[in-house]
Parts: sequence; C-alpha cells; structure tokens
Amino acid sequence: MPSLPQSPIRTGGRPARISDHRLEVDGLFFDVHRSDRRKTLQITVERSGELLVIAPSRATDNELIDFIEEKLLWIHTKIEEKARLQQRAPIKNFVDGEGFLYLGKSYRLRLVEQQLVDLSLKNGRFCLRSASSYRGQEVFISWYTRRAQKWFEKQVSEQAGRMGVDVKEVKVQDLGFRWGSFGSDGRLFFHWKAILLPPRIAQYVVVHELAHAHHPEHSASFWMKVEQHLPDWRNRKVWLANNGVQVEGL
Ligand SMILES: [Zn+2]
Repeated sequence: MPSLPQSPIRTGGRPARISDHRLEVDGLFFDVHRSDRRKTLQITVERSGELLVIAPSRATDNELIDFIEEKLLWIHTKIEEKARLQQRAPIKNFVDGEGFLYLGKSYRLRLVEQQLVDLSLKNGRFCLRSASSYRGQEVFISWYTRRAQKWFEKQVSEQAGRMGVDVKEVKVQDLGFRWGSFGSDGRLFFHWKAILLPPRIAQYVVVHELAHAHHPEHSASFWMKVEQHLPDWRNRKVWLANNGVQVEGL
C-alpha cells in the first residue's frame, strides 16, 4: 500500500481516495467494509464516533462518496448526538444515597465505619467503608471487575459450547469504548462496565463476541449467527446503543 498523508488537506473538491478501506469525505474518515452478501449501502456512527460504510462488493468508491455526501447532514447530527451523550455520562461522588448500577439494577450507597472489606453489596445496598471513600472509583472498579469475571466466565461456559466456540480464556478489563472483543487466539475480553448492564443486554454482548469466533466482521453471516442463538438480538442491540452510555460514568 502506498504511504498515506498524515493529515489530508481538505480541498473542497472531489475527496481523495485514501486507501482501499478508508475514505475521506468532508473532513470525515470512513472505514469501508465491502461484502458479497450486502445488497445496499449503510452508514453507521459508532459509539466512539468512528464512521463505517458497509457496501456491496461491486460498489465503486464514487458511489460510496455520493451516498455519504447525501447523508452528510444526518452523519453530522449523529456525531453531535454521540458527543452530547458522552458528556451526559454521570460523574460519581461516592456519597451516601448515590445510586450505583450492578446487572441493570441501581443500588444506593451507604458509607459505613466498621467493615472488613472496602466494598460490599448487602440487603440491597452498596456499603463502602468511609475510610476508603477517597478512592471510591478504584474500589468500585475492582469490585465490578471481580464480579464481572465470575459472571462472564459462567455465561461464556454456557454459550460457547452451544455456539461451537473453543474459548481459551475469559478476561475482564478496561476496553475503552468496546463492551467486548474476541481475539483470534481464542481469548475473550469484556469491559468491566458490562457488568453494570441488565443481564439480557450483557448476554447479547457475550453472544455477539462469540459469534465473532465464526465471523470476524459484522457481515450478514455474522448477524445470522447471532440471530440463530439470540432471535431478539435487534432490540437488545438498540437498547445498548441508546442506554449504554448511562453506565459509563464512574
Ligand atoms: Zn462486533
């Protein structure tokens, strides 16, 4: 592949073709995925703000550019929407009465003086040792990570066999903007924040990642695989797109 300019200059003319898989239109960069099964063009704006164009294999770059240009207003609106949602993510203060999510339910926080562990969940309350509240974020992340490790290991062991996937390891960590990821070496990763989601949504994340063992791309056959194991995946996916940001502030 020829070397790419680090910062392409906007000329206002016909956009330059950047590479086989990337297009620049109106200062925006689009990852292009072509697929034989695809019949129509589709643009998606990811949670992270990344832009993706899915197209039939025979679609030319010019056709893609025309399509993108027609949708520019919609794309810019979407990008602004995502940015606004990111800003709305609640910030935690670790004070009495504050709500914290766990598997889709919100539990109020109580600061306690006497407790052996930093954090516990009992009688429908999160109890945080007062002396540890100054590092509340770290304490919560560590608690969520441990719970998520157990929960996702169990889910994966139930689903992996059914879906014919050989999983080498399940690992919970901070994945940035991603809920999960499937490594080609058979390692499955989940974001610790995924344990804040309602179980049915977290299950969708599990099935989604396991389906990637069969199809790395979000191709039509990938979604067929998801549907085979989770027929109502669509409304779970929509829920995640609309509400996922609510669990982001910590
Ligand atoms: Zn995916």
